[in-house]
Amino acid sequence: MIRQTTALIMIVCMLLSACGSKDDTTPESTRSSNGSVTSTQEQHNEPTATGTGETQTTDSQSSTDSPSDQESPRRDEMSTTEKEGNDNTSGQTTEDNIEKTYHMNANYYIKPNAKTSESKVVLLTFDDGPKEEKMINGLIDTLDKHGAKAIFFVNGYRVKSHPELLEIIHKRGQVVGNHAWDHEDLKKMSTTAAAKQVTDVQKIVKETIGVEPQFFRPPFGSGNDALKATVKKNGMLYMTWSNGSLDWDKSTKNKPDKVIQNVLDQLNPGSNILMHELPWTVEALDELLTKLEQKGYTFVDPRSIELEAR
Ligand SMILES: [Zn+2]
Repeated sequence: MIRQTTALIMIVCMLLSACGSKDDTTPESTRSSNGSVTSTQEQHNEPTATGTGETQTTDSQSSTDSPSDQESPRRDEMSTTEKEGNDNTSGQTTEDNIEKTYHMNANYYIKPNAKTSESKVVLLTFDDGPKEEKMINGLIDTLDKHGAKAIFFVNGYRVKSHPELLEIIHKRGQVVGNHAWDHEDLKKMSTTAAAKQVTDVQKIVKETIGVEPQFFRPPFGSGNDALKATVKKNGMLYMTWSNGSLDWDKSTKNKPDKVIQNVLDQLNPGSNILMHELPWTVEALDELLTKLEQKGYTFVDPRSIELEAR
């Protein structure tokens, strides 16, 4: 009798544990979307220069960025405060255990800490999302195919409109970066207003996926010392880029081949490659990554980069 009861309890336990093991790790790559890839209502021009996103030094000096005809994103009246903590219980720690084997230099190139480490690396970044599920999954499918991680620099107002898209980026193992709340020139704002553009994104991202961004890129690569101090205070690495794909430029619209060529033309060990969530970039990515691999490049995991430039 006792033996039968024990057996029964064991069976019940096994059944319960089987039901409870819901698979959180299943990638959502195959999920179809209804979003059309071709709609890009707005484009904004990041800086006109293809190269370094910012000439070094301080605020007073003119940067290469020339913001023009960017969208004027609405600031959606106060987002973050009313948002209660979501189901951030996924327990996805930021893989902080990844060893910091690379650092960024003053020109936004990624360099190995040890001479023995691989220097032929590139950092892949995609700005201005999250916009559409189909484009995001398209980019991540290709990144997965090449075993690559990228930073998706997001705008807060877009996260507010589509928190579920941010979750896709995070759950599929890619890295979320802070690209300010609005896509506006932070250098033209007061220090306080610019700081709010930074901290509001930290807040909404934390509320949505449970972790705060560790990387910051200002819209148009336009910043100053006060902004850099704010970014540092929030525990982030400030960067613009060192290789502009020009995918935001008219000359490249609907031309995946040009995206690829623009990147290859500026390619150097440690290139910090600026791309965007745009249909022609989604289309270009597989061939671009293949060509980079053929040239002996690998893709640096953003989480292996130190959070202080040097
Ligand atoms: Zn941008």
